[in-house]
Amino acid sequence: MNSREAATVLAEIAYRLRHVPEQGHRVRAFSRAATNLNRLQPDLAALRAAGRLESIDGVGSGIAKVLTELVDTGRSAYLDRLREEAGESQPADLQAIPAPGFLRGDLHCHSDWSDGRATILEMAAAARARGYSYVAITDHSPRITVVNGLGPERLAAQALEIARASEQLGGFAILRGIEVDILEDGRLDLPDDTLAELEVVIASPHMKLRQEPAAMTERMLRAVESPHVDVIGHPTGRRLTREGATYDFEKVFRHAARHHTALEMDCDPARMDLSPELARLAVACGCRLTLDSDAHAPEEFDYVDQGLWMAQQAGVGPELLLNCLELPDLLSHLALER
Ligand SMILES: [Zn+2]
Ligand SMILES: [Zn+2]
Repeated sequence: MNSREAATVLAEIAYRLRHVPEQGHRVRAFSRAATNLNRLQPDLAALRAAGRLESIDGVGSGIAKVLTELVDTGRSAYLDRLREEAGESQPADLQAIPAPGFLRGDLHCHSDWSDGRATILEMAAAARARGYSYVAITDHSPRITVVNGLGPERLAAQALEIARASEQLGGFAILRGIEVDILEDGRLDLPDDTLAELEVVIASPHMKLRQEPAAMTERMLRAVESPHVDVIGHPTGRRLTREGATYDFEKVFRHAARHHTALEMDCDPARMDLSPELARLAVACGCRLTLDSDAHAPEEFDYVDQGLWMAQQAGVGPELLLNCLELPDLLSHLALER
């Protein structure tokens, strides 16, 4: 059991505890420990042998117990129990978690042009260091004023910096993108001609998630049918500590499949949205998906390693993931319906 596999287990435990209000602190603790395991890649077997698992940042006695069992047996009885309670009687086959090597790129990340904490060059260099052949820079659109969202003028300026960064990285493919807000009535937060200029358009619900389901369904139907939208980002807006939007998922997903609009599995441990349950429904409705980090800093690209179990449980193989496509195939897919 290496630290990446163990991180996956801790992330899933956090996910399965998310609806138990009195478990809020544990959700955060497991999620933080998972992130640290991915970032620090400690040698778990050596630390276990030395009785020093609690020296890992964010690992207290409870989580150390889970890690001890993982190192010794490759299993977690605690996770098995949580799965059983969720009606997933299948015990975890932890060894079957797919390696991240099949991913070709990441289609959702932020730079310091909006609320990211690193430059475009730093983000792209980190993506390249993971072995990716492309990354899309998808900063926020203007409505979310607190994050300094990008309108048409700044997007044009950003395109120049993207071209420069790509050149500095020996031609590494940095796709020009946006995470555009889905407004309350399903319109998008940027004009069509601006969206048409971009290579990757992610449309995401961020605000007014408590709309009543019928209105929310109309809002999402309108967003997925936009010819400019390639992906719906974190489709429910859910956070681990906050319920997401409710709408007619099946109707929206079927509409998305018809319009070649993919649905995202956002691997940010605070989101994990789509959930494995809804991703399974999306597959049944004929949708393609993406498995993205929504990284706001270079090390956060590792979030996808932590989210792989969601794809596995949803039955989402590489053939269904847009970001498993080689760049030319991805670009022709993105051009569909435009
Ligand atoms: Zn977002
Ligand atoms: Zn984002």
